[in-house]
Amino acid sequence: MTMNDTTLSVGPLQADPGTKTRGTVRAELGTLTVEIPVTLINGVRPGPRVVITAGVHGGEFTPIDAAARLIALLEPAEVHGQVIICPVANPNAVYQGRLNISPVDGVNINRVFPGDPDGSPTERLAAWLFSHLVDGADVYVDLHCGGIDQVLRDFVGYRLTGDPDLDKATAALAGSFGIEDVILGLKPDGGNSHAAAARRGISAVLVEVGSLGQRDAATARRRVDGLCRALRHLGVLDPNDSAPAPIREWVWSAGVTAEATGLWYPEFSFDGDVIGEVAEGDVLGRIVDPADGREHLVHAPARRADLLRNARS
Ligand SMILES: [Zn+2]
Repeated sequence: MTMNDTTLSVGPLQADPGTKTRGTVRAELGTLTVEIPVTLINGVRPGPRVVITAGVHGGEFTPIDAAARLIALLEPAEVHGQVIICPVANPNAVYQGRLNISPVDGVNINRVFPGDPDGSPTERLAAWLFSHLVDGADVYVDLHCGGIDQVLRDFVGYRLTGDPDLDKATAALAGSFGIEDVILGLKPDGGNSHAAAARRGISAVLVEVGSLGQRDAATARRRVDGLCRALRHLGVLDPNDSAPAPIREWVWSAGVTAEATGLWYPEFSFDGDVIGEVAEGDVLGRIVDPADGREHLVHAPARRADLLRNARS
């Protein structure tokens, strides 16, 4: 049997083959320094290098919970290849109680990847994460969830790159988590970490599980189960007899930004297949401004998302 004889390292942190190392790595961000928690799991046997990040956004705690559970679960003797897990990629945003933006500079880090080593602290953090963790991965998995102000239906997202082999591998990876809805973007543009990784030829997915920042045990189990399914799909973990779950694949078509301030009253729910019935111009909901009581209707900017393949298994 071929053995892996490569030492895995991130900054000064190292793991020899057959070992798991937990620690923090210091990132200098110009006006501040942060300690980034990183775990290295270096398998005895060869395989892909998989990088998993959580806590890229503040207010999203289930990904961090799942990453910590996965760190505890993975044993180097059972791993083919190398797994790098960063459970809190953006400590200032996570621990200072912010949502999508960092309290340091007001920047949403998941819009500025691959970052700028000479930019604002958050742009520097993105550059640090990208150069120390993401670049060099064969597979990149970025864990998010509906934050404490976000209703969200579980989905896996990825971007087409135009490289048929890469797109095929990423589509298969996206379908391996046991999450029904897979949403693909037709281009790998923008500052999302998974998009920036895709532009570098890395098979990269965004995995969104959980809603409203709820960090219950069932959501955590669902997340870890999905990650283990994906790791079995990638050959990092040995296969078992669990059957692949059916998926349906959508194309990202549009988003809506609120034009008024107020509270959001949706006209739809995520129960059943209601999300498949939205037509262009349908009322999605209303924003009521508590200052003057005015209602602002919000209409769907596009027809229902394109369903590519129904219940593909
Ligand atoms: Zn997020």
